Amino acid sequence: MKELMKAQSCIILRNGMQIWIDTDKTDILQDKLQTITGSKFIKVENKTINSADITGIFPAADLDEFIRIKRGEWKCKKGQWHAKGEQCAGHHNIVEYTPPTVVNRASQKTVDMVRENLKGKFKI
Ligand SMILES: [Zn+2]
Repeated sequence: MKELMKAQSCIILRNGMQIWIDTDKTDILQDKLQTITGSKFIKVENKTINSADITGIFPAADLDEFIRIKRGEWKCKKGQWHAKGEQCAGHHNIVEYTPPTVVNRASQKTVDMVRENLKGKFKI
């Protein structure tokens, strides 16, 4: 699998800037952050950031949900997202089981979608 297929997490800074990292690297970062007292400059990927400016580290799926809710979308009982004001028709044609490979593609799609959605909003 290519590097691109890895699950991504986003470090959100106070100024709204976002830094995307592989989710499997967040543990190392979190351990590092726990040992820091006060504010220190830390290197994440190729960027140097002030630890005090980190608002949080979120998996792409959580961020996607947050953005959708902010846009007024809602999730129905079937777990499907609907546009603001749209009614749920029941999703009778939805396949219940999704093979893992499709899930991976879907999560990359989410990352791409979130990135696309945020493009131009913040300078990274
Ligand atoms: Zn629905």
